[in-house]
Amino acid sequence: MDHFDEMAWVDFARNLIPESVRPAMQRHLDEGCKNCLLTVQIWQSVLAVAQGEGALTPPADTVRVVKSFAAAPRASSGVRLVFDSGLQQVAAGIRGTAARQLLYQTDDYYIDLRLEPRRESDRACLVGQVMDRTGKDAASHGISVRLNADNLPIADTTANQFGEFQFDFAPGGNLSVAIVRNQEAEILLPL
Ligand SMILES: [Zn+2]
Repeated sequence: MDHFDEMAWVDFARNLIPESVRPAMQRHLDEGCKNCLLTVQIWQSVLAVAQGEGALTPPADTVRVVKSFAAAPRASSGVRLVFDSGLQQVAAGIRGTAARQLLYQTDDYYIDLRLEPRRESDRACLVGQVMDRTGKDAASHGISVRLNADNLPIADTTANQFGEFQFDFAPGGNLSVAIVRNQEAEILLPL
């Protein structure tokens, strides 16, 4: 089965795909491709948070804010912040205790991060997933992940077979996540 690439599904989820292509992509989903359906679902859930309730396209404000944030020289080079729900909440004036979601993109990976405050305690939970974009199996399996506060390591873990990882920690300082790969520069992702 021929698949569509990830960027095509991003545009599909954003309703930016040309009308000449869209029916073929919809048919591909209808025929039951689980891989592509998962990709669309990830992006639809990301965009649903970005858009708040109801809207079909992200407000221009959100796109502009996300783009300007992505241009800030804080993440490793080659890393793009695709989405940050915190910026959306600021733009909408509803910043609060809700979970925050960020999606980063590199040449090799999508890295999804969800930061969840714990209401009953002073701890917070960070759940993440490293998703391989290259199609090379195992590229994100057993990857090491480190949580930093003010550039000092506070926790280490290893992603599971699905590239998923989780930290339970006491929040404080400027947080960042480092994806550590053998022989290659680590990927630093500010939170
Ligand atoms: Zn497919």
